[in-house]
Amino acid sequence: MKYQCPICKKTVDSTRNTDFPFCSERCRMLDLGAWAAEKYVVSDPIFDEEEIPEADRRALHEGGRKNNDTVH
Ligand SMILES: [Zn+2]
Repeated sequence: MKYQCPICKKTVDSTRNTDFPFCSERCRMLDLGAWAAEKYVVSDPIFDEEEIPEADRRALHEGGRKNNDTVH
C-alpha cells in the first residue's frame, strides 16, 4: 500500500517500510525531535546544589582539601 510520509511528503510503500507512518528513520526522528524539543522548553531541567545529598557534598569538599595538601 502506498502512502505519504507526513514529514517529507514522499510516497512510500507501507509493505516494505518499518518506520510507518514515516518514510525513513530520519523522518521519524525529525517528527519525534520536533515534539521533544517543544516538550523540553516547557520542562526546563533545574540543577540545584540542594539536589546533592549531604554526604556527597562533604566528600567533594574533603576531596578538594586533600588535593591541596598533596600540592603543598
Ligand atoms: Zn519522509
